[in-house]
Amino acid sequence: MASPKDEFSSITLAFMDLAIQQAKLALDNLEVPVGCVIVEDGEAISSGRNRTTETRNATRHAEMEAIDTLLEKWQKKGLSKLEIAENFSKCTLYVTCEPCIMCAAALSILGIKEVFYGCANDKFGGCGSILSLHSSNSNPFISGGVPQGKGFKCNGGIMASEAISLLRSFYEQGNPNDLIPCCNGYQYLEFIHIPNLKNLEATPV
Ligand SMILES: [Zn+2]
Repeated sequence: MASPKDEFSSITLAFMDLAIQQAKLALDNLEVPVGCVIVEDGEAISSGRNRTTETRNATRHAEMEAIDTLLEKWQKKGLSKLEIAENFSKCTLYVTCEPCIMCAAALSILGIKEVFYGCANDKFGGCGSILSLHSSNSNPFISGGVPQGKGFKCNGGIMASEAISLLRSFYEQGNPNDLIPCCNGYQYLEFIHIPNLKNLEATPV
């Protein structure tokens, strides 16, 4: 019987493994373990991990870290806004958990080409779980003259069990950092942990 991994290419799995390594780094630093990498032309050009606790900023999700690192790099090279937009349109993001609504909106506006994610984000997922911001046909998330997102191709379920396992490890540590309030009034853990843990526990081992 084919394992769930067989449906994804070895390249996809290799880049997701890099994202998992970033999530492990987050776990080592007592952060909610979510990690990502951004890939252009078959090369990982940026990476990020959740740093909400370290920065005391609930918006510093892994995706935002990787995006900002890349923007800084391209701006230092003197790239114009148009060139930066063109570059993003060639990039693929691999992230261990479905991007939340905030991150999915940012990725859509930046015009990223494609996203691969691990486990679903049942409470705040912006790529199908709650909103479908990856779909250019979705209801406008931003109005009032602000440019709307272009949408992007999206694929979920890559190495999801590994991603959930890390989240579960963090949760089982009883980490005090899980009490940090988030920008929208929810505790950060609510973003991803509880629904996924419930799913995991519902699956026979
Ligand atoms: Zn996010």
